[in-house]
Amino acid sequence: MSTDLPLWFDPSKCLIGGHWVAPAGGGTLPLYDPSTGARIGEIARGTADDIDAAVQAAETARHGPWARLSAAERGRILLRLGQLVTERVDDLARIEALDVGKPLKQARADAVALARYCEFYGGAADKLMGDTIPYLDGYTVYTLREPHGVTGHIVPWNYPMQIIGRSVGAALATGNTCVLKPAEDACLTALAFADMAKAAGLPDGVLNVVPGLGAEAGAALTSHPGIHHISFTGSVGTGVMVQQAAAQNVVPVTLELGGKSPQIVFDDADLEAALPFLVNAGVQNCGQTCSASSRILVHRSIHDQLLERMSARYAALRVGPAMDDLDVGPLISAKQQEIVSGYLNQGADLEIAGRAQLGDMPAGGYYVPPTLFSGVTADHALAQSEIFGPVQVVIPFDDEDQAVQIANGTDYGLVASVWTQNGARQMRLARRVRAGQIFINNYGAGGGVELPFGGMGKSGHGREKGFEALYGFTTLKTVAAFHG
Ligand code: NAD
Repeated sequence: MSTDLPLWFDPSKCLIGGHWVAPAGGGTLPLYDPSTGARIGEIARGTADDIDAAVQAAETARHGPWARLSAAERGRILLRLGQLVTERVDDLARIEALDVGKPLKQARADAVALARYCEFYGGAADKLMGDTIPYLDGYTVYTLREPHGVTGHIVPWNYPMQIIGRSVGAALATGNTCVLKPAEDACLTALAFADMAKAAGLPDGVLNVVPGLGAEAGAALTSHPGIHHISFTGSVGTGVMVQQAAAQNVVPVTLELGGKSPQIVFDDADLEAALPFLVNAGVQNCGQTCSASSRILVHRSIHDQLLERMSARYAALRVGPAMDDLDVGPLISAKQQEIVSGYLNQGADLEIAGRAQLGDMPAGGYYVPPTLFSGVTADHALAQSEIFGPVQVVIPFDDEDQAVQIANGTDYGLVASVWTQNGARQMRLARRVRAGQIFINNYGAGGGVELPFGGMGKSGHGREKGFEALYGFTTLKTVAAFHG
């Protein structure tokens, strides 16, 4: 393992039932540094046997001391965990930067968000309440919010810490036990987090981590009959398979999938305020963000002016290795580099309105030039497909109706923003645009641990983040007591 990685655990092992164990098949997968393409170690290649052991450990744990902890005690463990994460933010950031290729400051922001999720859900644990329901004479009726049981968590590689924080944090706060299958390209911080959870006092078996391939460990988890709820974050294609597998066991699923999120800029927008959001939301994390804003819709009267100003920002972007901590790092893998390069080639008929220079990159790193295309029609492949790279398209519109039509004209509906000073228009568009989150005169709003998040259309269903997630990780029981 590379000495640059400040690891205090062995990533070639799984954490099952509170113990670090080698995967049953003895397999490992290679670990690459996206900034250089260099092989820097091995991770565990967990398979169906390890998933089975993890589900059994989680099943045992849900009937153990964990079941008897009060909500406040569960919350306290999460708060302690948040504290431990805060103390190790720099280590976690370094691990994530080397593993995922994101600039150090972005990796640090993810680690801070992970701590914040622990705080938020730690504080929320004892505030989830049922209802009392007025009913027939002689009855008292109330509802109980109970944990599902063993929850499966499948996480992608782009924001491992944030996605683990939001899904595992909410699942633990509500008393579930968890089996976490991190992405094969980015599992180190998942293992680090689970180890810290043990140190924070989480009972053995409450959080189990099995790294491995999607088709092996992931598929085994989603089809396992011992799982009672699945939280999946990833691509649409895999999400469909996950939902099909869960249907066989009649298990509820939260799907957090992709997006093609628009920012809609009207002619009365404060462009100075909008510009950093317009560009950053497209290139942050090298565009590998589900809520990346890959479409900029702009009123035709300010199209040229906006293009010119966005171009200048693209030209100023600095791209380089994660540890150089510039604006944009490499993509996650050679495969992702090939996919994004394919999309850039599909834009050969379009005008390149802005492009960052790559300069002198490490030869084996997975870099692509952040690129802004203009002259794009709303039905072009680059305006319809989730590219998952630092690529944005600018599309002009003539009026509000057309803006809404273009904004809603993809399969997705994850996030959107509206830039205008017109209050009535803000309110109208907040209703008319199809997306799980609408931002007015901003985008992304500080990460939004507190803000319910999730998709419409093929962006998925169910909500994570915020208090709302606690409803998704519980099931409702109605108690009707007759006392005369
Ligand atoms: P992916 O679907 O390939 O993989 C996601 C996870 O699913 C990984 O852990 C992978 O190992 C696992 N997996 C793969 N095949 C599986 C199978 N057959 N059964 C069970 N699990 C399987 O996605 P990705 O390429 O890692 O991530 C990128 C995608 O994730 C993008 O589409 C992006 O928009 C989406 N995403 C969405 C959100 C959100 O909150 N909406 C957040 C981040 C990423």
